[in-house]
Amino acid sequence: MTYDSIVIGSGQAGNPLSHRLADLGWKVALVEKAHLGGTCINTGCTPTKAMVASAQVAHYARNAARWGVRASGVSVDLAKVVERKEKIVESFRSGQRSRVDQRPNLTLHRGHARFLAPRRLQVADQILEGERIFINTGTRTDVPRLEGLDAVQYLTNASLMELRDVPEHLLVLGGGYIGLEFGQMFRRFGSQVTIVHRGAHVLGREDDDVADEMQRILEGEGIRFVLEAQTRYVEKKGGGIALSFTVQDRPETVAGSHLLVATGRRPNTGDLGLDKAGIETDQRGFIRVDNRLRTNVPNHWALGPETDRILGAAILGSEGGELVQMLGGLMLADAPYTVLKGAVYIHPTLMEGFFGLMDDVKPAA
Ligand SMILES: Cc1cc2nc3c(=O)[nH]c(=O)nc-3n(C[C@H](O)[C@H](O)[C@H](O)COP(=O)(O)OP(=O)(O)OC[C@H]3O[C@@H](n4cnc5c(N)ncnc54)[C@H](O)[C@@H]3O)c2cc1C
Repeated sequence: MTYDSIVIGSGQAGNPLSHRLADLGWKVALVEKAHLGGTCINTGCTPTKAMVASAQVAHYARNAARWGVRASGVSVDLAKVVERKEKIVESFRSGQRSRVDQRPNLTLHRGHARFLAPRRLQVADQILEGERIFINTGTRTDVPRLEGLDAVQYLTNASLMELRDVPEHLLVLGGGYIGLEFGQMFRRFGSQVTIVHRGAHVLGREDDDVADEMQRILEGEGIRFVLEAQTRYVEKKGGGIALSFTVQDRPETVAGSHLLVATGRRPNTGDLGLDKAGIETDQRGFIRVDNRLRTNVPNHWALGPETDRILGAAILGSEGGELVQMLGGLMLADAPYTVLKGAVYIHPTLMEGFFGLMDDVKPAA
């Protein structure tokens, strides 16, 4: 079968791109080996945020007295939480399916795509040829080489969200955003949580002050952190799992009922046949791309002394994900931070915090 373009992977870029190209009149193939929608819809953003919402309700209910509300006997029915999450995910998936079905010149091929040549792919027993080929194959959990790991039933972000009973004690290996998000979620569901991280600060990509504050907040919710841990081995112990590591050469072991591996993500490029297409990857397996195609994700607050432009931002607080978009918009518009000075904000809103923040801006040393 011959197409004007073939999109491999129905993730964040592959879906909208395939729709847009089909709308322009191109004959397009979309190849997907698993569920439509990729990580975000199936095992990433959508299901986690659905479950985070349940965890937040549990947290508010447990702490209702702070708002002068009496609530007692708060407990979490994880099976119901998971059922709700699955309904949401399923509705998103079927939305993706109908967007494909609406486009007669867009064909969905189910199966694993492998290059046979630069413009030729094998998908199941079919050969697809395309003038242009777009690769959007995403990432998966990067499972570390750790003695004993294969012999225990460890969890990943996907399998953790399938549990029907709240774990008694969740060990989380990795203090990145996935480890922290699940750590807080399951703590709020009622688990004891221990996060074991090899760095000196959690959230390695964030500024240390943001990461340390995040750790402090989570410790306030009862999560235990072990930092600078060099893992040694994992073993089954008393019906649970024991994780052994050293901290500054001191051996230590923590035992829990479940273990989540959240030590990073690796690209799905190893079995794509990229060598047949002559496509280069870097040492970690990521496809090398031109600098202009790289997304620059701002992760720290820094204001320029000469241009007044915002170079990046991190907001740690309630609805920080919503608020930070205001700054993202200014960056896109290449506008100086000063346009926010003296703006009229609706009161009372979280957004009005920008009023004081902008007035406080000092030139960087
Ligand atoms: C637990 C978790 C929570 C997250 N939460 C958020 C969040 O709240 N906000 C946020 O912005 N981001 C979040 N992310 C990150 C977000 O999910 C990813 O950045 C995003 O999904 C990446 O999209 P992608 O299109 O690159 O890849 P993917 O979404 O992974 O899509 C790749 C697709 O390609 C398919 N594929 C792979 N190889 C082949 C092949 N050879 N043949 C055919 N198909 C193939 C895969 O099955 C998959 O469907 C989260 C991630 C995780 C893991």
